[in-house]
Amino acid sequence: MLKPGSIPNREPEIRVGIVLPEDNCTEITINIPAEPDYFIISENQHKYNLNSGDEVLFTANKNQCSLFVNSGKIDTGKIWKIIPKDDIIMNNKTGVKVNNVVSGRSFHWEKKISIYLAGIIEVKGVEGNLVLINDLPLEEYLMCVATSEMGQACPRELIESQTIAARSWMLANVEMKHVDLGFDVCNDDCCQRYQGTTFLSEQSVKGALNTRGKVLMYNNQICDARYSKSCGGVMETFENIWEDTPLDYMQPIPDGPKDFENSNLPLNSEEKVKNWLNSTPETFCSPKIIPEDELQKYLGSVDEKANYFRWTFNYSQDKITKMLNEKCDLQAENIIDIIPMKRGYSGRLTEIKIIYLHKEEKKESILKDQYNIRAAFHDSFLYSSAFIVEKDDNQIPKEFVLKGGGWGHGAGYCQIGAVGMALKGYSTEDILYHYFPGSELKRIYK
Ligand SMILES: [Zn+2]
Ligand SMILES: [Zn+2]
Repeated sequence: MLKPGSIPNREPEIRVGIVLPEDNCTEITINIPAEPDYFIISENQHKYNLNSGDEVLFTANKNQCSLFVNSGKIDTGKIWKIIPKDDIIMNNKTGVKVNNVVSGRSFHWEKKISIYLAGIIEVKGVEGNLVLINDLPLEEYLMCVATSEMGQACPRELIESQTIAARSWMLANVEMKHVDLGFDVCNDDCCQRYQGTTFLSEQSVKGALNTRGKVLMYNNQICDARYSKSCGGVMETFENIWEDTPLDYMQPIPDGPKDFENSNLPLNSEEKVKNWLNSTPETFCSPKIIPEDELQKYLGSVDEKANYFRWTFNYSQDKITKMLNEKCDLQAENIIDIIPMKRGYSGRLTEIKIIYLHKEEKKESILKDQYNIRAAFHDSFLYSSAFIVEKDDNQIPKEFVLKGGGWGHGAGYCQIGAVGMALKGYSTEDILYHYFPGSELKRIYK
């Protein structure tokens, strides 16, 4: 596992959680590929050879897991490791195939997919559920992340800059969300999306090889290089999203060329936010640079088709009352008004007031944090909290319209904006220095 705050001088091994306790998974099947040869070993050193084409099944049994090979029960153990006997050549769909893995965990795009994993596979029982961890060298992991996060049609500069941002974020390792379960990161948007070699492309392999060991540094520390799908035109700051000390290399700057100008910037009044979100400025992430019907070929394969830069949701009085009652525990009979209270530099709401009727009395409720706001204002999760609210003049409005921009927290690297920059001919360095101003690219291991 990675050590927090340390700068490695050689390539580290990392552990990725693929099946987590919250997936409530009690059975996992894994298919052994034609090559290389594999063996499986338990914590008690019970060791068995596996052959090409074998189907390995694990079933949960309290804190143990039972092992079946080709439907025959073999043994029971606490922790099993499936280990390749030779190096795995990093190629599309190399490694073992793991079935029914959750992708888009707890988001509206959640689904189950089969994925291919290189490296070592570890399976253990945790209180009646199975946990699966993939153990592999960091550079192999990064090859996979670049294409899991983005589509295979991405330009080289996009893959390279994305790989460097992902490597930096991994090694900065400040979040450590899953340290209790014994892995560095999970396989989903909670950390960074990873689907093994399933969509691995020649280009993403090259992206990692060309940038091997390179990270962004600031003040002799590896940058916590966060990224999201679309900033919506202006990058958000670290402190407005994670309520922490500001990071100098995440600035609220427009996602456009150095001479980019727009009369609505900075977004320091409701009027300006309204004009900004009602227009389509020509930033790097704008559909004026990349038409949205072409976005699909640059975005990862599990994303649904949508407009990300500017979007609208219409909610009837019934719908919004039901939704906010459920999500914010309001017991409202009607929603009267929704009032923006605080916004970040990108227009992202960090505080909102909901005025509602309860037993014919006017009440109000304050909702804080962009994450909570996104969770409240959509059946599953709103694209971003950068939105304005329009309603009719009725005392009890018939409809509320949310008009918004961007997808994700918007701080740091804007993935769609980086596509736009790459298509416009900017270099890998240009892209990284644009999203992380003041940082410096360095190679920390060979
Ligand atoms: Zn995670
Ligand atoms: Zn952007």
